[in-house]
Amino acid sequence: MAGGELTPITGGCLCRRVRFSITARPMAMRLCWCRLCQYLAAGNATVNLVFPSNAISVEGELRDYASVAVSGRRMHRRFCPHCGTQLFSESEERPHLIIVRNGALDDIALLKPEATIWTAEAPEWAWIDEALPQHAGQPPPVA
Ligand SMILES: [Zn+2]
Ligand SMILES: [Zn+2]
Repeated sequence: MAGGELTPITGGCLCRRVRFSITARPMAMRLCWCRLCQYLAAGNATVNLVFPSNAISVEGELRDYASVAVSGRRMHRRFCPHCGTQLFSESEERPHLIIVRNGALDDIALLKPEATIWTAEAPEWAWIDEALPQHAGQPPPVA
């Protein structure tokens, strides 16, 4: 980004054993209603920011749950082994990107989602913002 220092975006888990700092602006911010995210987010959509993975530094121990997504990609969901807070998601095929959960940011109101994805898997009662673009499934890659 041209000119000026970027204020890092900081965050971490509930128990504060894991902390991170990001020196980039997000490439995307989306709500995800895929079935797996509903497990992670206790029944709602996850709120996710996509960053270049080289812009984040992380301190503290993470556990990793690996699974194969509908896309066929092998995904790693990383969380704090002590308090269970979901922090990151990464795909083995796209290691240049890291997905950060908005709930882990120190300032959860810093940025706003610009799309809702996997709406086809949302329950009928789900509240989905009609003002945002929607994708029934996985949208095209951000980069
Ligand atoms: Zn923790
Ligand atoms: Zn999802």
